[in-house]
Amino acid sequence: MKCGGCGAGMEPGRVEVHNSPGTIFFKTWSLQDLYWYDKSAKRKSRRRIVESNQARPAYGCKACGLITIDTTNELESRGRKRKPR
Ligand SMILES: [Zn+2]
Repeated sequence: MKCGGCGAGMEPGRVEVHNSPGTIFFKTWSLQDLYWYDKSAKRKSRRRIVESNQARPAYGCKACGLITIDTTNELESRGRKRKPR
């Protein structure tokens, strides 16, 4: 994928929503999702991009830092992918 900002080639990767490493848990789990809104910020424009403890394929541009999240694929579990047998 080409970067929408600067046109350089982008590196495939993923984005995840989870607690920072080292977060201390008590009895409550942090449940936060990543949402997208249009400029109006109205609720009807809301799209849930990544749910808590899930991941999406994404592309990162090393040249300018832009991250593009691929929302056309299924949500994935966070963490490293297991090798298919
Ligand atoms: Zn770029």
